[in-house]
Amino acid sequence: MNIEQFYPLFLQADRVTIDSRKIARNDLFFAFSGENFNAATLAEKAIDDGVLAVIVEQSEFENKDKNIFYVPSTLEFLQQLAMYHRDQLSIPIIGLTGSNGKTTTKELIHAVLSEKFNVQYTSGNLNNHIGVPLTILSIKPEHEMAVIEMGANHQKEIEFLCTISRPDFGYITNFGKAHLEGFGGFEGVIKGKSELYDYLKINHRTIIVNENDPIQAEKTENYSPKISFGKEGADYNFEPFSEEHFVGLMYNGVKAVSKLTGEYNFTNLCAAASLGLHFGIGFEKIKHAIEQYTPTNMRSQVVKKGDRTLVLDTYNANPSSMIASLNNFVTFEGSKTIIIGDMLELGVESEKEHQSILKLAQELSFDQIITVGKHFKAVNLSNLAFENTAALTEYLKQHAISSENILLKGSRGVALEKIIDFI
Ligand code: ATP
Ligand code: MG
Repeated sequence: MNIEQFYPLFLQADRVTIDSRKIARNDLFFAFSGENFNAATLAEKAIDDGVLAVIVEQSEFENKDKNIFYVPSTLEFLQQLAMYHRDQLSIPIIGLTGSNGKTTTKELIHAVLSEKFNVQYTSGNLNNHIGVPLTILSIKPEHEMAVIEMGANHQKEIEFLCTISRPDFGYITNFGKAHLEGFGGFEGVIKGKSELYDYLKINHRTIIVNENDPIQAEKTENYSPKISFGKEGADYNFEPFSEEHFVGLMYNGVKAVSKLTGEYNFTNLCAAASLGLHFGIGFEKIKHAIEQYTPTNMRSQVVKKGDRTLVLDTYNANPSSMIASLNNFVTFEGSKTIIIGDMLELGVESEKEHQSILKLAQELSFDQIITVGKHFKAVNLSNLAFENTAALTEYLKQHAISSENILLKGSRGVALEKIIDFI
């Protein structure tokens, strides 16, 4: 089917969806193969339920009278439609990638820019070859800006996502030890994430730079246009500080305290504040946005449970974010227990990285170190090394943790949040 001919129908739809369980009236439904062993019934039923149109991958199910259209690949059609829609937009689009902190930074940028503009942004963590097109397709005429998170675990992925999102502004949160397996080591991470810079440079778009990060600084040296922060002489200068473990930034003597813990969030805040200032939002408003934003997504979240303080960072983990998290947590006052889960997708580096995190944890002298997962168990000889959350839950039913502060950090696959109720 021809995108140009199809586009007017897309414009009539309220939204695009790929999940048959969530379809609503006037949706445009893309039936992916995994979904539709019974695509024919599904498509017809969707139409009867009021869906505007359905895209299917099986030619025999096409029924143009009912707005059921066949395409050879639903995924490719979704991506091409997003590219076409992107071409029609003339609002600034901000693209984000990096090893850690993308979602947090995306949320902060959204909070700050929303003080003045109607901003569309990636919902949750929908940052891949399906999520990015869906986000682009969710941009409506009333939106004045958009913030798009782009994730990757191998080369050429960001390059491809840039052809869909075509960002006017781009920021790489950091280069860290994440997805080492797919990228081919740390050098591979730098190369893969820098595909965002490559896109911005070729198209003369603006790069947002943390001048304090040597890799960012080197990669963008003498480049313009850019928006910089982090060093004297940069466009914007912020001072870091913290108040009861919450990270803040000060600009021209005015303080803004976030509800995020972890020193690493300072640069995430700086990126958001810099963009706000660039787009003419006064610092008082930026302060308001930063102070209002409350993480509810298991990223750098501080939760009180009785008289104890839990730091929930269970959304994901890799060596860089683990080190940052441990170094932050050690500054908490009072007794401290850490519950750390495996860092997945590290490939051949895995054993070495788990060993070195365990060593760091021991050097930092936490009162109690509990590990969860096979990778840690292989290197942790203590009896507080558990295979999975179920084993730890059984242990916690018999042995309460007495520390005043408890950190939970591990990869998504470990799902450490499952044990919260047993603490
Ligand atoms: P994902 O790859 O899952 O999309 P992400 O890049 O979106 O991750 P976030 O979800 O924002 O990252 O944060 C995940 C964790 O990374 C945080 O809870 C924190 O531990 C750590 N983190 C956040 N910002 C930074 C940063 N700037 N530098 C290093 N670590 C960070
Ligand atoms: Mg994310």
